[in-house]
Order: sequence, then structure tokens, then C-alpha cells
Amino acid sequence: MDNLEKLNGIGPKTKEQFQKIGINTIEDLLYYYPRKYQVIKKSDIKNITENDKIIIDGKIDSQPIIIPIKHKAKKMIIFRLATENRLLNISIFNQVYLCQKLKIGMNITIIGKYSKQNNTVNASEIRLGLLPPQPKIEAIYPATSELTQKTITKFINLALKTDVQVIDYIPKQLIKKYKFPEKRWSINEIHHPTTSISYKKALQRLKYEELFNYLYRIQNIKQKRMQEEQGEAKKVNLEKVSKFIKTLPFTLTEDQIKTIDEIAKDIQSNIRMNRLVQGDVGSGKTIVAFIASYMNYLSKYQSALMVPTEILATQHYQNAIELFKKTNMKIALLTSNVPKKEKNKIYSKIESGEIDFVIGTQSLIQENVKFHKLGLIITDEQHRFGVHQREELKNKGISPDVLSMSATPIPRTYALTIYGDMDVSNIKTKPAGRKKVITYSKTMNEIPEVLSLMKKEIDLGHQIYVIAPAIENDEDSELKTIKSLEEKMNLALGKIAKNAAVHGKLSPEEKKKTMDDFEKNKIKILISTTVIEVGVNVPNASTIVIFHANYFGLSTLHQLRGRVGRGDIQSYCILLSNEAQERLKILEKEHDGFKVSEYDFQTRGEGDLFGYRQSGEANFKLADIRKDFELLLRVKEDIEKLTKN
Ligand code: ADP
Ligand code: MG
Repeated sequence: MDNLEKLNGIGPKTKEQFQKIGINTIEDLLYYYPRKYQVIKKSDIKNITENDKIIIDGKIDSQPIIIPIKHKAKKMIIFRLATENRLLNISIFNQVYLCQKLKIGMNITIIGKYSKQNNTVNASEIRLGLLPPQPKIEAIYPATSELTQKTITKFINLALKTDVQVIDYIPKQLIKKYKFPEKRWSINEIHHPTTSISYKKALQRLKYEELFNYLYRIQNIKQKRMQEEQGEAKKVNLEKVSKFIKTLPFTLTEDQIKTIDEIAKDIQSNIRMNRLVQGDVGSGKTIVAFIASYMNYLSKYQSALMVPTEILATQHYQNAIELFKKTNMKIALLTSNVPKKEKNKIYSKIESGEIDFVIGTQSLIQENVKFHKLGLIITDEQHRFGVHQREELKNKGISPDVLSMSATPIPRTYALTIYGDMDVSNIKTKPAGRKKVITYSKTMNEIPEVLSLMKKEIDLGHQIYVIAPAIENDEDSELKTIKSLEEKMNLALGKIAKNAAVHGKLSPEEKKKTMDDFEKNKIKILISTTVIEVGVNVPNASTIVIFHANYFGLSTLHQLRGRVGRGDIQSYCILLSNEAQERLKILEKEHDGFKVSEYDFQTRGEGDLFGYRQSGEANFKLADIRKDFELLLRVKEDIEKLTKN
């Protein structure tokens, strides 16, 4: 239809490069919004200070020449520029091809940084021609290694000139109510703002539409669920449930009991359950999930528990076997680690209904897993699964109940809107006797102190996690980071402690072996990126040291901190960063995940929030759930009114 190749100058190669960033049609190009804007306007050189950004035009005053740079493979072009009132030295790196184009007497525009001392502009960009007489606002797009700013800008501008239609999703009465401008006009305005008033108008309109689409979909999903009958309401023998609860090695907390009651009501009702259980790390969500699966089993249905990692699946499986050993519930583990033969056996037992409760990773949603009578799906750390994956699993049963567990609690008001299609239970009370994890925020200068604390803990027989962020999202840099930390730890503590690293390059077997060794206390220090984070339970681990802690959101750090303090030993969390971080100090005082996340919501930067709800589900381009929360509430209200009529 509106194929990209219709645009002048887009060949197969450029097309492929655009496809890599998700741009397949001319319409997609229109929605590729600027990251920011720059004002193209002549700088006043008198008021400019060292290293300021400068935009200036003039005539080339000396023939540009290429000079090599000492000790570097780079080359540089230098020449003089005669501006309105003075001569400037211009230098530009790595754009040697420009040298042929630039001739004495030519009018050009320079964008770069000004160095007063050398009277030099270090140019980042050279444009042919003088500046336009009026200041101009230019969009800056997220570029890639293959697609430059210039290329992207060129094709977006071409796309804007086509008559490609965009669908307007806002209903007419709402457009009228808010006097919204036209959509194509608004998109134009985002790419080429004319005045700040019209830009804001356009922005507001497009944000409204994004939020509208999202909330409307959620509303629909919820409505559909309410209407769709489950056929029969499940019958649960609650007496047996109470009996089972009495066999537990601990008494349930108040909120655990409340949550279990809510789940019991859902399971017994003929409306399909879609419940989110939010609770801090260590608040005891697993047992709640297990009891839900037990109730479901008592009503003669199968349950599936899906978790993000093999390690976690195995741990849950072992726990479940232990807890349910006195019942007749048959439990199976299904991960990619299970040998093929064994797997096939499990598949057929799931299909025949011999297995009541299966615990696993994504393997659970593979084609060949057929359930006999799937009645309940539980996802642990639900924000790690997309709606898409959940739907796939859902399709395996006849509208089964869905229970999601999340250790990244978000404030209630947000939860009700972002997770608007779900009912929410909160587990706030902590199991009795839990010690607070003593938390310190430290700078790298204080590392000797940190090492001595680590040494002390090892001497006490305890174990330690060391975490480093994979700052760039590629395996090589992850490996480098982890390996160098491993070397450092070996150097500092190797004599007294064996350490091992877990990273993406290890095979699942190697990973499992390392984790097993850590659980068995054969390894004292475990070094990894955040891959191990969720749910891992090693009560003898007393300390977690997080390098480059400033790269993480507070909620993530809080969740990582939850790896320790799982037994009755005093535990520590050390947050390391290059410079002192005010933000991290919050964790020294605050130990309640709900409060931490509230803080995160108030302070975290734009675009950082969507770990909460996977991108693709709420991937707003312009709107920001936190900043535009008022607008979100208004949209919600509008939709409610709309659907009532
Ligand atoms: P999370 O909410 O992070 O998934 P878990 O379910 O893994 O937490 O529970 C953490 C630990 O607390 C487990 O060892 C579990 O057996 C224990 N636990 C759960 N509920 C209670 C309780 N009511 N009293 C004491 N310990 C509990
Ligand atoms: Mg858990």
C-alpha cells in the first residue's frame, strides 16, 4: 500500500535499514517522532563562552587541508572562515570527503563547539549555504549506526509531503469537545513546529490519542472478560485448603490470607479471574500462588506456573514438591533443560491429565504442550511477559483463570489505570521476624571499606552476590564487565573465597551448575548481571554489592536487594557508584517496595517506566504515564462516559 519504496530515493538497502528500526510503511515514518529539537539561529559570538555550542555562517577564507592527528588513526580538516565580523579557525574530524567540496569563497554554515583560546570552532556539522534569515527549529531524530540524521530527516520530510492517510482514532464527539486540530496537521507540527502554541496543541492531541487507544483497548479486554461466561463455576473444597494451610511451616500473614480469600472468590465465580498480586520481594507471593493452584486442583483442573528463568522454575518446583508431598497433586517441571525423552513423557502426561500442576519457563507456551483441562495460569514476575505470551498460554485452555505475580509493586492509582484490565491484590505485610537489609550507598573511593565488609561476611561463613549492569545491551560488553569484575574479586578476595560468574555466554547447564554450587555454598561470591535477580532464594547469602548502582531505577535496586535478607542472618546491600548519589540514599532509609516505587514514579526520567508494563503494550511515543497522569485520568473518564451510552 503505502510502501516505503514509493518514496524517491529509497532503495532496497535503505528500506532494510528502516525495517530494522520498525519502519515498514510511509505511515510508520510519519510516526517516527523527533527525540528533540534544535534552533538554527546565528550565535552571538560576543556572548559565547568556552565550549559553548555555536552556529555561525560565513565565507571560506583559506583552502581547507587535511592533516593527520598524532597517535590516532583519525584525520582532520582545517581552514579559516570569514564571518560577519571576524576570522575563525574551523576544524572538523573524520569527514575527509568534505575537503573536495569546500572551496575558497564558498558560503557555508558551521555547527560546533567554540574554543575561545584557539579562536577555533570544532565543527560537528558543515552545511553548504548561509543561515536562513529567520531562526528555524529543526527536529533531531534518533539515528542509528546505519541511518544518519540527514537520511532520516530527508525521508520523513518526503513522507510528510505525500498524501498518505493516517487513521484518526479519537471519536468525533471528543474531537469536538476538545476542539482538537486535525491529525495530519498535528503530525506535521511535531516534525516542523511553527509556533510554540500550535506545537503544544498538536502534542496534546497526539498524546490524547495514544492514551485513548491504550485505555480503550484495556477497557475492551476487561468488558469482554466480564461478559464471557466460564460455563460452570469451579467448586473448591475450602476445608481441604484450610487443612493444607495448617500443614505449612509458618503462619500466613494477614495480607496473604486476604489475597488467598480474593483468589478463592475469583476461582469460584463464573467470571474469568484476571488478578494481579503485587508484593515486595520476600513478602511470600509464591505460597499464595501454590495455594491458588491447589484450589484449582481441588476443583479438578490443571494449573500452569510460568516464570522467567530456569533457575527460578527449578526452585519453585523443588519447593512445591516439598510442600505438597502429603497431597495427591502431581507436579512436573518443564524447562528447556529437561531431556527430550523426559519432556515427551511430561507432555503426554499433561495431555492425559495425569499431571495437575506444571511449573516451567517459556517452554510452557510451546506448540506441543497440550493440556487436558487447563484451569489456571500463574505468571511470576508478570511484567516480564508480554500480553502476547500470556494470550498464547490462555489459548491453550478454555478461558482459564489468570493470576499474575509482581515484585515491582506500583502505586495503587497507577496500577488501577495501567493494569486497568486486572483486579489487584496487594501484599504489604511482611512475614514476622524479617530483619531489615542494612543498606549503604558508597562511592568507588570507598571500595576498601566495602571489601573489608565482604571479607568479614565471608569469614562468618556467609555468601555474597556481586552485580554489575550490562550497560550496553550486547553480550560482549556484558561478558567484559563480568569478567573484569571476576578478576578484581579474585585479586581482592580470591585467597579467601571462591567466586564464579554467571553471564549470557554460559550454556544453561553451566549456569545451572554455577547456581547449584552457589546454593550448596561451594561458591562464596556470585558475580552476575541482573539475569539472576528475580526470585532466587539462597538464605545464606548475606550481602549484595551492586556496581554502577546509579544505572538502575530504585525499584530494580530494591528488588535486587531482596536477594538477601531471606534467612535470619543480618544482611547488607551496598550500592556503589562513581559519585555520591542523593537518589540512592533513599534506599538506605526506605525498605517498603510500595514507597520505593512511589518515589521512582515521581523522580525517574521519561521513557524509563515501561519495565512496569512491557513495551508494545504501553509503548507511547509522546505520552508519559507519570507526567501525563492527569491527562490519562481524563481520557479514562471520557472512555467510561463513551462506553456507557
Ligand atoms: P516473594 O514474594 O519474593 O516471591 P517468596 O514467596 O519467595 O517471596 O517468600 C520468601 C520466603 O518467605 C520463602 O522462603 C517463604 O517460604 C517464606 N514465607 C512466605 N510466607 C511466609 C510467612 N507467612 N511466614 C514466614 N515465612 C514465609
Ligand atoms: Mg517470587
